[in-house]
Amino acid sequence: MRDSLVTLVGVGKLYEPSVRVLSDIDWSVAPGERCVVLGSSGSGKSTLLSILGLLLRPSQGEVQVEGENAWMWPEKKRAAWRTAKLGYVWQDAGLLPELTVLENVNLPLHIRGIPKKKWNGQNLLERVGLGRRSHAHPSELSGGEAQRAAIARALAGSPSLVIADEPTGNLQQRQAEDICRLLLELQEELKFGLVVATHNEALIKYLQADPYWIIDGSLSSNPPEEAT
Ligand code: ADP
Ligand code: MG
Repeated sequence: MRDSLVTLVGVGKLYEPSVRVLSDIDWSVAPGERCVVLGSSGSGKSTLLSILGLLLRPSQGEVQVEGENAWMWPEKKRAAWRTAKLGYVWQDAGLLPELTVLENVNLPLHIRGIPKKKWNGQNLLERVGLGRRSHAHPSELSGGEAQRAAIARALAGSPSLVIADEPTGNLQQRQAEDICRLLLELQEELKFGLVVATHNEALIKYLQADPYWIIDGSLSSNPPEEAT
């Protein structure tokens, strides 16, 4: 599909031995689009985001990138595309404890062999409100600060699509709202596609994103009907 970052066509996922998590999902994320994937714990949000992020191969269907089935590409090409185009944020910030905050944020650029003068970690840390903490170590940060640093790290390579799986899952509600506001601000400024998974529906309004629900393995833009 033209004008899409990643398109899922008829995607299903079955975990061994026979646990069906997703069925027949058609979905496409366009450049600059903001989406939030909702669903109870165990409904398949992480599975869907991992498939969208080319980290997990679906059992059925295609993940199309640039009009091609990305799982027909050699692993090397898929990995290169992920590194160039995607940024990931997880529930756990996953900062390396032996590096400073700034070194953590610049690490993806270092690994990609980008010349040092182009490393934008300090600017990004300033942008997420951590400009003065760049030489701290991760153990000195609060949970909310660590997540801000993880967001800066995800943005370091100027990704086209940021995939955030329960980025506020370890935070208190107030901090969670702040992180969502920050993601929204950064998205509006930098125009990356953004897909956030959360089980916390109260966060939708802070993200101002198009909501999708995983219900019985299918993706719907309508909320589940209230159980009566
Ligand atoms: P969510 O993120 O919405 O909590 P997940 O995508 O993590 O849901 O998991 C969906 C279902 O798939 C759950 O029942 C989970 O136990 C199962 N599952 C997830 N990963 C695996 C795996 N690697 N092997 C087997 N089952 C898995
Ligand atoms: Mg999950």
